[in-house]
Amino acid sequence: MFEKILIANRGEIALRIQRACREMGIKTVAVHSEADADTKYVKLADESVCIGPAPSIQSYLNMPAIISAAEVTDAQAIHPGYGFLAENADFAERVEKSGFVFIGPRPETIRLMGDKVSAKNAMKKAGVPCVPGSNGALPESPEEIKEIARAIGYPVIIKASGGGGGRGMRVVHTEAALLNAVIVTRNEAQTAFGNPMLYVEKFMENPRHIEFQVLADEYRNVIWLGERDCSMQRRHQKIIEEAPALFISSRLRDKIGSRCSDACRRIGYRGVGTFEFLFENNEFYFIEMNTRLQVEHPVTEATTGIDLVQEQIRVAAGEKLRIRQKDIALKGHAIECRINAEDPYKLTPCAGRITQYHAPGGPGIRVDSHIYNNYVVPAYYDSLIGKVIAYGDNRDQAIARMRIALSEMAIEGINTNIPLHLDLLSDAAFLRGGTTIHYLEQKLAAHNKIKKD
Ligand code: ADP
Repeated sequence: MFEKILIANRGEIALRIQRACREMGIKTVAVHSEADADTKYVKLADESVCIGPAPSIQSYLNMPAIISAAEVTDAQAIHPGYGFLAENADFAERVEKSGFVFIGPRPETIRLMGDKVSAKNAMKKAGVPCVPGSNGALPESPEEIKEIARAIGYPVIIKASGGGGGRGMRVVHTEAALLNAVIVTRNEAQTAFGNPMLYVEKFMENPRHIEFQVLADEYRNVIWLGERDCSMQRRHQKIIEEAPALFISSRLRDKIGSRCSDACRRIGYRGVGTFEFLFENNEFYFIEMNTRLQVEHPVTEATTGIDLVQEQIRVAAGEKLRIRQKDIALKGHAIECRINAEDPYKLTPCAGRITQYHAPGGPGIRVDSHIYNNYVVPAYYDSLIGKVIAYGDNRDQAIARMRIALSEMAIEGINTNIPLHLDLLSDAAFLRGGTTIHYLEQKLAAHNKIKKD
């Protein structure tokens, strides 16, 4: 096992990884920007190294600075967390070339699955059902583009092959709007992801977002650990996730789960990973794979009793999987609410000092957060400041516990989306379950309209 791991991330996930390491007796190195220098979680690490000024491009995305931090501290492995460099194949390659272990899949796997066009092709070959769409990248010719969209049938969604984080996507309802949307998205993709390649898919009108968690070692042993429903989204970004997903038969769950495991074996996948699907009319359609730990991994930890971060570290160290598929027993129900520093309805980010913080607790409640009294939420990074996970014997109990937890939780001095969560936790459609990915957008639009009127 490793003796020392460098954590190339910040905030709640840096703390989460640090906790896993401490439990395993592994020393940690926290790298941080100047903006995060005085945080408690950085001080809790065994060592810390400042890797640059506040803007991510100069710190958390600064590959040479991170690698030299690993060199000076004698760390053996680098955990990238999620976001930042977690799905950057060049980074994984540089880490390995410098003699460290990258805690994640091989660089070539990240490259294959990070490009959504090649990922979809690989999944099709592995027998995983995909969203109908262009077979491969969009050509240049306007006529050919029109033909492809016509064959798929409107509405369609244009997506950047290198896209991520809910960006680089555009829905098109009519042929008249198609070519202009292609140009705008291509420019955006070039600027944001350095890759102008686009593809097009059928825009699904009423799907749910359901994803499967996998875990694989180097020796092609693969298990899947159930699914998560992440349909509650705004701006294509998740805010509530739960496991299991309602209204999925265990037969269908088993079938898709084993397809995901098979696909992992085919591509020689290593580490934790997530297959994301849209689910409509009882059919699953693959959209993309995330080759890293997900924000919402705790709901799977709650329903399987497995510490995904620790297992991730073990397989990265070359250990064989200790758990077999038949050992996985999904139990109870878990819900995660992402706590964001933002206006609950307008969604504008809200940086600043937390003047009062009170964390909830009680049976079945887990809080993953790096914040505390007087913590200053920097304006430079993502608005996620923590996650509350509620577990219960069943969904009703998990919801009841979450409601109590969020009503106890106090974060003052900044705006958070806790009021929106409380609103959703008593929303009739959410309580029935099975809402689609468009539900929250519609609810927000209705709320903002009433306010305006
Ligand atoms: P990203 O990598 O940016 O997260 P994804 O491909 O995972 O992009 O898509 C993010 C979200 O966008 C999905 O969860 C879903 O809400 C929406 N989306 C993506 N593809 C489609 C589609 N074909 N039809 C309808 N919605 C889609």
